[in-house]
Amino acid sequence: PKARAKAHKPAVIAVANQKGGVAKTTSVASLGAAFAELGKRVLLVDLDAQACLTFSLGVDPDAVEDSIHDVLLGQAELADVIVECEDGVDLVPSSIDLAGTEAALLGRPAREYVLQQVLEGVSTDYDVVLLDCSPSLGVLTLNALTAASGLIIPMPAEMLGHRGVGQLLDTVKDVKKFLNKRLTVLGVLPTLYDGRSNHAREVLADVGERYGLTVLEPPIPKTVRFAEAPAVGRSILATARSSKGAAAYRDIAKGLLPHL
Ligand code: ADP
Ligand code: MG
Repeated sequence: PKARAKAHKPAVIAVANQKGGVAKTTSVASLGAAFAELGKRVLLVDLDAQACLTFSLGVDPDAVEDSIHDVLLGQAELADVIVECEDGVDLVPSSIDLAGTEAALLGRPAREYVLQQVLEGVSTDYDVVLLDCSPSLGVLTLNALTAASGLIIPMPAEMLGHRGVGQLLDTVKDVKKFLNKRLTVLGVLPTLYDGRSNHAREVLADVGERYGLTVLEPPIPKTVRFAEAPAVGRSILATARSSKGAAAYRDIAKGLLPHL
């Protein structure tokens, strides 16, 4: 029956912001590990040619044989490129090849739907799929927003007032209109948060009203522990188990459970 088949579908959540350095990748790795701790079957997809997520989970992007690039171009099966990571999550790795994927997809019809279609192939194997987007609003990010049912927008508090939010929300509006009616903005995730800063607190209080967006809680504190984690191929949930940053990501993951 239709209803039952539906219940097996994973929640696909895009983590996007066209600005770099806002903790997209860190959030994908940390939320992925947090969902895995909660017993969820997690797939992470690295959609950035920089391959920071791939590297941070202990996989050498230069040694990857087939990556998401090959999958999107129909040259490899998704299931065949998935790597199991120590954090208890599965990863679809990126590689430098991804720098050429957008150009290769450009001439194709329905190019924004490729990722959605590819994910159908593993849809019953996972409870949640997190998409780590590149810092752009190009074809790969449009693929992510088309495949996703939810969007999380990581953003340092100081940036919340800037124009970038409006630009991203305009894209979301277009995606909903033309590509993916189901897309819901789950919220802004305040990252690199310095609770001692009055400015950060004020901006946080303001952004929800200004853009009509949910602000996910708690904010992720700024801590040096995050810089240490990628070097050992594990997320902060493993390298600094009881840190405030790890606790914050666990709380965010718990708060998102109703959306899975
Ligand atoms: P993006 O994917 O948006 O480009 P990253 O997740 O790569 O951003 O993070 C950018 C930099 O900020 C990285 O060096 C990362 O280690 C660091 N970082 C992320 N979150 C935190 C945090 N809460 N505290 C301190 N540094 C952080
Ligand atoms: Mg990144």
